[in-house]
Amino acid sequence: MSQPTKSKHESGAVAREEDLSPILPDGSRRRILTGDRTTGKLHLGHYIGSLKNRVRLQESYDTFILLADVQALTTHYDRPEMIKPSVMDVALDYLAVGIDPQKSTIVVQSMVPSIAELTVFYGLLVPMASLLDNPTTKAEAEQLGIGKDDKSIPAVLKHPAYADLVAHVKSYYEERFSEIGDLPIHAYYDALTNYWKERYEFTAIPGPDGQPLDPSELDNHLLMDRFPVSIEMNPFEILNDVILLPHRIRDFRAYLMRSKRTTGLRQLSYGFLGYPVSQAADITFVGGHLVPVGPDQVPLIELCREVVHRFNAQYGQKDSEGNIIDPILVEPQALLGTTELLRGLDGSIKMGKSLGNAVYLSDSTEQVWNQLRGAVTDPQRIRKTDPGRPEVCNIFSWHKTFCGAHEPVINEAELGVASVDEVAENCRGAKWGCIDCKKNLHAKLEALLGPIRERRAYWEQRPDEVIDILKLGTRRANEEGQKTLARVKAAMHIDHFAL
Ligand code: SF4
Repeated sequence: MSQPTKSKHESGAVAREEDLSPILPDGSRRRILTGDRTTGKLHLGHYIGSLKNRVRLQESYDTFILLADVQALTTHYDRPEMIKPSVMDVALDYLAVGIDPQKSTIVVQSMVPSIAELTVFYGLLVPMASLLDNPTTKAEAEQLGIGKDDKSIPAVLKHPAYADLVAHVKSYYEERFSEIGDLPIHAYYDALTNYWKERYEFTAIPGPDGQPLDPSELDNHLLMDRFPVSIEMNPFEILNDVILLPHRIRDFRAYLMRSKRTTGLRQLSYGFLGYPVSQAADITFVGGHLVPVGPDQVPLIELCREVVHRFNAQYGQKDSEGNIIDPILVEPQALLGTTELLRGLDGSIKMGKSLGNAVYLSDSTEQVWNQLRGAVTDPQRIRKTDPGRPEVCNIFSWHKTFCGAHEPVINEAELGVASVDEVAENCRGAKWGCIDCKKNLHAKLEALLGPIRERRAYWEQRPDEVIDILKLGTRRANEEGQKTLARVKAAMHIDHFAL
């Protein structure tokens, strides 16, 4: 397999001005592929980060929007019951913000089999190192509490097997010994050995040198010599220290494998780790040219480009100098958004349901206000008479985002609310309290969310029409996917015969 050098294909990962023309040289429209994992309703962070942009882009580009229900399962495979309602919720959110099914093709990912097939073929070309080293995958894994270094002690200590072991051994002692502090240390050791034997099929616990320890030969002294614990330690601390042995023994990894659990990135499912490969299939099945993403997602586009480049280099037609002259797949580019990230109402970078810091597009007037009322402001502004610091206040950053300059439906004069400059002035001069300021923001958000709510209510009354939109879009996507798949199979010499 030919190995492309990175510089050849990474340099164009982010689209430049000349890559943005909506019309291609052959007269067809440049294609955009975008979408969302269907893990719940969409919020204002989605609106600012992507939806607003999509409504604009659909006017010029051939836009495909994926309801990524399969990708939702990479993290929600144990909660499948929420996938189906989420597909409908996200579709309603799309229509509510102004995604026009006449202009955009909305697709249910799981109903496009060619995506799954392409994922299998692309997986053959992707080295594990590319997946394990992908910064986006690592960052997302860390958000799930999975350590990046599978050899580090913290990663071991975070492992569910460790917590399970600690809990079990503690309860073991608590059940058997009322005077736990008076027991000789080898009693702990015996019990631990029994537990390990029973649970993990060890015949004996190895010492730090990896050699098995024989409990019958042990006395406190010997154990003290072999384990770095001190006699002054609380028995539970000693116990914990003994329990810590697993990460010192050489076959801990084997034990973890036997218990079908492991540590670090190795805890990730095949699907989670392979997410960039399936994302490459999501993008290329329709020959997406541009993928609107934030800067943190660029590594995923780079990996997708790497897949495409490897495929084209391996199977595409080349000239005598090895240059690809007839690529089979379109190499996509990242279309970087210009809008800044909308922080959660608690000031954190991430906005989400579990964090309780989001305003959802489908929230009622009251729900929006309840969220705003509890939002954090300048922590030094305690009394109404304290001058505030808008530059450190998250509510002020929302005022800057949701203002007439960025959202034409927010007309400050008509609404009778303060402009961004007036908000800053009122804050610095202690001319109003934070509640007044939030009420102003609420009025602005209502001007934006009111029409979105109305459109959502319209479509909610017409579920069959929404389904028809999804059917139509998914059918079109399937046609495109089959064309791509046929080219890929022919290139890989697995286009045998029609059944
Ligand atoms: S008045 Fe507004 S901008 Fe100033 S601290 Fe309060 S909420 Fe923030």
